[in-house]
Parts: sequence; structure tokens; C-alpha cells
Amino acid sequence: DLLVAKRFFNCGNGVGEVTAAENKLALISEITRLKSTAWLLQQFKDLASVKNVDISQISAASLFCETNFRTSKASGLGASATDSAVWLVEPRRTKSVEKYSSTLFHPPRDDQIGITLSAFAHYVYSSDNQKLVLADIQGSLVNIGGIDTVVLFDIMHHTSEQDSGVGDFGPEGIQMFATQHKCSYMCVGLGFDIINGQIEEEEDE
Ligand SMILES: [Zn+2]
Repeated sequence: DLLVAKRFFNCGNGVGEVTAAENKLALISEITRLKSTAWLLQQFKDLASVKNVDISQISAASLFCETNFRTSKASGLGASATDSAVWLVEPRRTKSVEKYSSTLFHPPRDDQIGITLSAFAHYVYSSDNQKLVLADIQGSLVNIGGIDTVVLFDIMHHTSEQDSGVGDFGPEGIQMFATQHKCSYMCVGLGFDIINGQIEEEEDE
């Protein structure tokens, strides 16, 4: 009961005018972003484990991409639609959503989850030679197997080629992260090159 199916209604032509093909393209972009985010997240976790750095439990939204060959009523495409409808399934947002960054704003955080996600963003920025930046980092706290886990969804990317889909500001978006990110003790512990100096630490939880 944690999941909800999602599809795009407005990706260019305005509400009600999106075609099945456009819907599919927008969803494929999002799925690509989510998959690469999930992959990078795993690398980040592995690194934290190797470096013995304590990070918060973070997970990427689960992907169940389903292609309906017979158009369902809910897709609103009508019985004559020939394209398949593509759905993305992600955590249902009954829980409160916490935003950790926006499209062009990457504020420093002083909570463990925020510090973890900021360090993850730094990891992504560094690991792909500053060609990729995570934006609109948001998540909900979900109890998975007894462990409170932040499940991320709807993450946007800024790419040097500006080809990741909705919300990609290209080099401008990358630059915003590069000038705003403040490193934490976690960035230091993970061995990242420090950018824009480091946040002063207070040793309390
Ligand atoms: Zn950093």
C-alpha cells in the first residue's frame, strides 16, 4: 500500500493534449533519471561502507514500469489508442515530503538525512566529472523492514548536455550546485575534494 502509479499529463502540449507517445517519452526520461540515481546511490553507499562513514538510510523509489498493451480506462486515452500507456510506480505521498534541494537551490543542512543527501549530491557531482548534478532532491520517510528509510522520488538532473528531460538547466544548473554546495564532515570523511569550504560542525545530535 506504499505505492501509487503515476503518469504524465502535462509535458509540453498542455493538460489533456498529451499523447501516449509523449507520455511515454517523459516517463522514460524520468525512469532513466531514477535508475541512474539508484545506481549512483548504491555506489555512494558502498563508498560510505568502505570508508566506515555512518550515513542515513536512503533508497530510490522502486520502479515498476508497466506497459499496457490494452489501454486501460484510467489512462484516458480511449479504446482506439494504439500506443501503450507507460506508468511509473513510486511511494504514495500520504507521508509528508521533505525537500532537501530545489531546482537551482542547494541549501546546507544540519540534520543527518540532509547531510547524507548533500554528501550524495557531492558524490554524484564528483563521480561524473562535474557533468551531472542532482536537483529537486525530495523524499518521504518510509518504514521498510523496521528501518526508517528516506525514499527519494522525482529527482531532477542537470546535465552538461542538458538532455535528461524536464527541469534540466544544463551547465547553468551544474554551476548553481558548484557555487552553493557546502561540504560537511561527511564529505570530508568520504574523501571528497572540498568545494566552497566546509560547514562548521557542532558535536550534538
Ligand atoms: Zn561536499
